[in-house]
Amino acid sequence: MNYYSTNHNAAIATLEEAVVRGLAPDRGLYMPEQIKQLPKEFFDELPELSFQELSYRVADAFFGEDIPAETLKQIVYDTLSFDAPVVNVNGAINTLELFHGPTLAFKDVGARFMARMLGYFIKREGKEQVNVLVATSGDTGSAVANGFLGVDGIHVYVLYPKGKVSEIQEKQFTTLGKNITAIEVDGVFDDCQALVKSAFMDKELNEKHVLTSANSINVARFMPQAFYYFYAYGQLRKAGCTNDIVACVPSGNFGNITAGLIAKRMGLPIKRFVAANNRNDVFYNYIKSGVYTPMASIQTIANAMDVGAPSNFARILDMYGESHSEICKEMSAYTYSDDEIRSAIKRVNSECGYLLDPHGACGYMALEQDLKEGETGFFLETAHPAKFKDVVEGVIGTNIEIPAKLAAFMAGEKQSIPMSREFADFKAFLMK
Ligand SMILES: *Cc1c(COP(=O)(O)O)cnc(C)c1O
Repeated sequence: MNYYSTNHNAAIATLEEAVVRGLAPDRGLYMPEQIKQLPKEFFDELPELSFQELSYRVADAFFGEDIPAETLKQIVYDTLSFDAPVVNVNGAINTLELFHGPTLAFKDVGARFMARMLGYFIKREGKEQVNVLVATSGDTGSAVANGFLGVDGIHVYVLYPKGKVSEIQEKQFTTLGKNITAIEVDGVFDDCQALVKSAFMDKELNEKHVLTSANSINVARFMPQAFYYFYAYGQLRKAGCTNDIVACVPSGNFGNITAGLIAKRMGLPIKRFVAANNRNDVFYNYIKSGVYTPMASIQTIANAMDVGAPSNFARILDMYGESHSEICKEMSAYTYSDDEIRSAIKRVNSECGYLLDPHGACGYMALEQDLKEGETGFFLETAHPAKFKDVVEGVIGTNIEIPAKLAAFMAGEKQSIPMSREFADFKAFLMK
């Protein structure tokens, strides 16, 4: 399968080229030339398939032409060698919990999958070391660092803003060692992102090193997220649900929801998708007006969704032939303030005894607002509430327990390299 750029100004790429490059040379995002339909028998079997089994079938449709079956199976099974997502079936509004991975956020699956696929290409081609640069405001860094930990041929540099990430988040990527280097930038998240962008554009640096990124622009990170939607659908059918099914996705860069749209193109009968946002409401405004106006990001308590210019919007436009009305047939959008997020966490906790994290709270509210008669919905719970301990405890007024997986990181010793926000310093460090 080949990949084209959403800007249509770059040569067609192989899977390997798309994964190693991340972004296309014309700064567009790579898309598969074809989205294969899965056969009817697959959908009939779906409720009975394990998460690993169905994920392999989906991965085979994406990548089966480019990677030998046994290797692909191993990549999928290694990626998913932790607890499967959990679907809480509960009537009209159901939860798909995606926080059972090593760093308790949904990005684990994409990061682990990408690490294994990139590792396979490096080995197959006898490539020199690939360097992954990732700027993080917290969650991406921990998922990527843990996903790539110990993978041969890859070194990861996590750039994060000094004093601006929570202690738990920081420990998740500064205590690992091995092929993971944490760089503590004396600046804000935007400075980290600017350093990474400058590095990708610097000629000298790119002659010396193979550099790539591991955010959801990368096809190997974004496409595996389609697995979730097949699983949720299968589990709801298995529980006897016969209604039309609607998926609601807390969104930032829109990688996760775009993977859902791809699942639908493959034949998964999800009726429509609801995008839930915090105050960063560019997609909401686009749905309302047909005009897309990217903005600077606004800081909120659902900070993994503080994105003012969602990169995967280019993929959504491309999938629907740039047609606003076609997009509106399959997608709707909602936006919530921090106060609304806090009151949803409080209300759901006291009425249902279920503890939402700030991102899941947006998903819950949007689904509750949008669900119609005769529909059954699920929203994605994208992170464990303990990852946002201070916010959540402040709202419910009691302490919450830290899961063992998170507590284990707290015991490690922080190691990081201090860095100014000047590109010259970062470049000198990488050139060494
Ligand atoms: C990254 C993230 C999101 C947003 O996902 P996108 O694919 O960027 O839209 C939502 N919730 C949490 C907890 C995240 O870490």
